[in-house]
Amino acid sequence: MKDVRVRFAPSPTGALHIGGGHTALFNWLWARHCGGKFILRIEDTDLVRSTKEYEETIMSGMKWLGLEWDEGSDIGGNYGPYRQSERLEIYRDYAEKLVKDGKAYRDGEAIIFKVEPGQDISFKDIVYGQIDVMSDGLKEKDSDKLKDIVIIKSDGMPTYNYAVVIDDYLMKISHVIRGEDHISNTPKQILIYRALGWEVPEFAHLPMILGRDKKKLSKRHGATSIYEYRDMGYMPDSMFNFLALLGWSAGDDKEIFDRLEAAKLFELSRVTKKAAVFDFDKLNHINQEHLKRLDPMVRLSMIKPFWIEAGLPVDEHDDKYYADALTLMGGRGQTAKEMAEFADYFVSFEPVKKRWTPENLDTEKLKEFFAAIFASPEWKAEKLEEIARDFVGSREGAKMKDYAMPLRFALTGMKVSPGIFEVAELLGKEECERRVKFYGLL
Ligand code: GLU
Repeated sequence: MKDVRVRFAPSPTGALHIGGGHTALFNWLWARHCGGKFILRIEDTDLVRSTKEYEETIMSGMKWLGLEWDEGSDIGGNYGPYRQSERLEIYRDYAEKLVKDGKAYRDGEAIIFKVEPGQDISFKDIVYGQIDVMSDGLKEKDSDKLKDIVIIKSDGMPTYNYAVVIDDYLMKISHVIRGEDHISNTPKQILIYRALGWEVPEFAHLPMILGRDKKKLSKRHGATSIYEYRDMGYMPDSMFNFLALLGWSAGDDKEIFDRLEAAKLFELSRVTKKAAVFDFDKLNHINQEHLKRLDPMVRLSMIKPFWIEAGLPVDEHDDKYYADALTLMGGRGQTAKEMAEFADYFVSFEPVKKRWTPENLDTEKLKEFFAAIFASPEWKAEKLEEIARDFVGSREGAKMKDYAMPLRFALTGMKVSPGIFEVAELLGKEECERRVKFYGLL
């Protein structure tokens, strides 16, 4: 097989969206799987809508997802420049050649590619298979129905279908992996390759991504830019994992994996053409699994910013304490943000006070219970639980939950939490005493 070289070719006219991230990721996977090269090419020929800022957000979005490229506008490479606006002369030279060879003609300032009749415009796609009928209804032998193609516009800028061919050829791209919305462009590109006498690369179009309602994913379905997911507390590892599963599966029902595992298992031939549904429940599940697997200190580094954002005093304990608290939280919370919210009582008593005001409590009965608990010689979960059981066992008709629930509320302000005696142990006797006293239960 020839050297694998693939590219992601965004137009910097917006942030990195789910669709773009998905395309970039599949290119990256294929490059890494084959030990090939992943190239970032900036298609900025729309001078009005393209900005440097968008170019930068796209790049930082890719870096956030962990999709490092080997050649690109920022790092250079042997086949540059990698920004189309810096390649105008190249496009012009090849257009002139086409004119000279009688394959294109001038119309004022513009250069138009002549589509010869009777040409086969079908092609074989790695994902979609043999494509004989294009989405615009054209059939394989319908090149005569294809209009001539503008390649250089009257303002001197190349058009997409032309520039993409010149660049993919000169950059020695082996596989063109992109969204299915480009299937109908492919025959036009193939005709240009042919006219220039160039070998056509392989094509692999990726399935459409749909919302839960089976309509094409759009703003209506919620966040569309990759960064919105970062800000909601999704981890790059989970986003990567989730996007990789849109239209591809690792086999053996393997759902949770890291980048390297995915690259090892990835096969372009196993990408399905069936539209993939963006399922938030699945994203949440994947994120939760990745959160669980994180090293405690790394997990803490993801959660802390959300505590800080909520105005909680994160300097009052050391990181070991917080990391232990998050370990105790286990799989609670599907995003870093949610986990931060669920565990806020480990940081401060303030959110607890805001959440819980006792009502209809049998204070006298509870006071006896708390007195017994706080009389414990050791502040250890098992010991506290043993005392609680003895206490409940010695009272006629008493139930554990009648005592454990008020304890949970006083310490956490929550109806659910990890084992409350474990929470108490980690909070420490002094802090628990402060909370329980505040509620007048001790
Ligand atoms: N700039 C094009 C886009 O963003 C690239 C398409 C392609 O990969 O050929 O859709």
